[in-house]
Amino acid sequence: MASDVLLLNTPAIEIWPGRLLRARSNHDARLLARATQVLRRKRDGRYLAAVTPDGLHALLPDLQREPGFKAAQAALDHAHRTQRAGIERVAELPLSRLRERLDALGLDDGYSARVGLPLVAEPTRLALAGFDRYRRALWLLPQAARAWAHLRDAALRDGVVLEAISGYRSHDYQLGIFERKRARGQSVEEILTVNAAPGYSEHHSGRALDIGAPDEPPAEESFERTPAFDWLRRNAGAYGFVMSYPRDNPHGIVYEPWHWCWRDAAPAP
Ligand SMILES: [Zn+2]
Repeated sequence: MASDVLLLNTPAIEIWPGRLLRARSNHDARLLARATQVLRRKRDGRYLAAVTPDGLHALLPDLQREPGFKAAQAALDHAHRTQRAGIERVAELPLSRLRERLDALGLDDGYSARVGLPLVAEPTRLALAGFDRYRRALWLLPQAARAWAHLRDAALRDGVVLEAISGYRSHDYQLGIFERKRARGQSVEEILTVNAAPGYSEHHSGRALDIGAPDEPPAEESFERTPAFDWLRRNAGAYGFVMSYPRDNPHGIVYEPWHWCWRDAAPAP
C-alpha cells in the first residue's frame, strides 16, 4: 500500500484527504464530493471545512472562531508549499495544550513518575497505512507505515496473515473518553483502571500498532498462541518493530502481545 496519502495534523484539527470521508448531510455531500481535503475537529470528529479547487468552504457558522482554525490554515498553506517543493518532513506537535488539559482533568503530577512513561507527542503528518479490521483508515508515521507494509507482506509470503486492529490515536480522542466518564461521575483513578492516561500511549506517536489475526478476538492475551504472534516474535525485529509491553514490564502495564511499536531511528533529513 502506497503511503503517499497524508493526514495533516494540528493540535485541535486534523486535515483529512477528502475521498476517505463520508458525507453526513446533503449539504456536506455536494461539497465533499469535490473536496480534496476536509478539516475535522479532533475532539468529536465534526467536519469543519472543505477544501475544493476553488477554495475553502466552511461547514459550520463561526469557522473563524473555531479553536485551532488558524493553526490548521497555516498547516494547509505549509503543506501546499512543501508539496510543490517536494519536501516531506515530519515534526512533532508541542505538548503544551495536552499539559493544560491534563491539569484541567486533575491527573496528578505523580502519574508520569509512577508508571515511568513520558508524555508522547503527536506527529505533524501521518500516512495512510491501509485499513484496519473495522475498515477504518489506519494512520501511522510515514516511516512506520512503510515498515508495516513490509512486515505484513513478509508475513504473507510465509503464509501468515497479520491484521491491523488500530494505529494512531490522538490526544483528543483519549481525552474525550476521560471527559465523558468524568461527566458521568467516575473518578480519574477509576477510569485509569480501564483506560490509558491521555498523552502516555505510544499510539499518539503514530509508531505503535495493535496487531491481530483473522477470526481472533482483538487485544486478548490469547493472541500469543496464534501463528501470527509466533511469526512476529521471530521476525518483527528485523523490520524495526518491538513488543512494548512484555510480561512483567517495568511500567506495570498488563502484558500486551498484540501491541508493537516501530522503533527505528528516523533517517537523517
Ligand atoms: Zn496498543
